[in-house]
Amino acid sequence: MQFHDSMISLVGNTPLLRLNNVTAGIRATVLAKVEYFNPGGSVKDRIALRMIEAAEASGELRPGGTIVEPTSGNTGVGLAIVAQQKGYKCVFVCPDKVSTDKINVLRAYGAEVVVCPTAVDPEHPDSYYNVSDRLVRETPGAWKPDQYSNPNNPRSHYETTGPELWEQTEGRITHFVAGIGTGGTISGTGRYLKEISDGKVRIVGADPEGSVYSGGSGRPYLVEGVGEDFWPTAYDQHVTDEIVAVSDKDSFQMTRRLAKEEGLLVGGSCGMAVVAALKVAEGLGPDDVVVVLLPDSGRGYLSKIFNDEWMNDYGFLEQPGDEPRVGDVL
Ligand code: PMP
Repeated sequence: MQFHDSMISLVGNTPLLRLNNVTAGIRATVLAKVEYFNPGGSVKDRIALRMIEAAEASGELRPGGTIVEPTSGNTGVGLAIVAQQKGYKCVFVCPDKVSTDKINVLRAYGAEVVVCPTAVDPEHPDSYYNVSDRLVRETPGAWKPDQYSNPNNPRSHYETTGPELWEQTEGRITHFVAGIGTGGTISGTGRYLKEISDGKVRIVGADPEGSVYSGGSGRPYLVEGVGEDFWPTAYDQHVTDEIVAVSDKDSFQMTRRLAKEEGLLVGGSCGMAVVAALKVAEGLGPDDVVVVLLPDSGRGYLSKIFNDEWMNDYGFLEQPGDEPRVGDVL
């Protein structure tokens, strides 16, 4: 009989898929590492598993313990699944701007979700940060993974994502492109690929325009899960050879094209990473193999990126040349 005996053994070993249509005119092979095949639907299952296993080994997380993390997104889902399988409780703290759908997903896995007001200063006792710190202090057996500073975040990618890509491409990968949020994916995967290839694999970060990684001031952007207004310790800048900044509009238009042209319903940070990957691939030849990592599925963004009204409100559906020109009859 062929079966998995736990959801945990389904984490990782995601497929590589060649992009065939959005790559028109490009001679290099462009492959997508499709992370929505993880059981929680995102790349974050990898770090959730590794961070929890390391905390068990170090004694920080004991049987019956409680995982407390300020997260509303993919990391929460990964932690909730692994916690459920291993018998830990989870308390997630999230700001009230988070959609009820996301909160309900976490509750569905048995996690408790504490919702905090967005409209208060970070120093306020009810702020997202202060509430999660207080819960850690006050809950017996509490442990906070802190994906932004936990070395097991990049380590999970060094141990799984990197080796998978090297094996899947039979060592032919020449470029790796990924978005940077905590920096865990690019730092861990990138370090592995650099080491195994004697520095030959080029590591390219994709970043929303405005984020600090590409020299921005931390101004807001709409792509979720990537970019920052501070430098997390999980991110090792030395691994990245180049950073490509991508606008929200280009990211979301490409996200929609991936669904329509490649059958890939993925999130906005995936469209962003593909825009960066195609920019890199444009100048390359037929022997080059560019791998772009797609962190999550598009299901969490149906009311935004895949909703024409939302896209129109921001002007994201307009094509270049749509703007009125001198001489146009308006
Ligand atoms: N895309 C999405 C949707 C994410 O949730 C994340 C994680 N924050 C990333 C990209 C970036 O991954 P990392 O944190 O490993 O840099």
